Amino acid sequence: MSIRIDNTKCIKCRACLAICPGDLIEFDEILGATMDKQQRCWGCTACMKMCTKGAIELVATDYKVSSPIIEPDDNQTCHHRMSTMTTQASDDKVTWTITKTDGEKIIIETLKSESNQY
Ligand code: SF4
Ligand code: SF4
Repeated sequence: MSIRIDNTKCIKCRACLAICPGDLIEFDEILGATMDKQQRCWGCTACMKMCTKGAIELVATDYKVSSPIIEPDDNQTCHHRMSTMTTQASDDKVTWTITKTDGEKIIIETLKSESNQY
């Protein structure tokens, strides 16, 4: 597992950079948070729990090409589509959104103080 960052949502707060125990997330002045060390990410979700903008997605990663494998190609043919998960953090809550392979969404809300149980 690894993460993918949607830079159209990123507000450049750097919270994810500060929390990553592996110091894997980098910062680009124009794009905001960036991630290109997917092979080293162990999917702990700590960065996701900090993001108030839902900009970080947990994805399955094909380490051979070091890129997410959930996206359809230009012809909209899905390859290895898998479930994904995003989070939306607020002061005291984390809302987890799991999108299943058939498009069904499951939303789970946890207290931020208890989110490490998940
Ligand atoms: S926590 Fe979210 S909004 Fe803040 S820098 Fe990271 S990805 Fe961007
Ligand atoms: S999931 Fe964990 S290890 Fe991976 S980038 Fe986020 S904080 Fe770092």
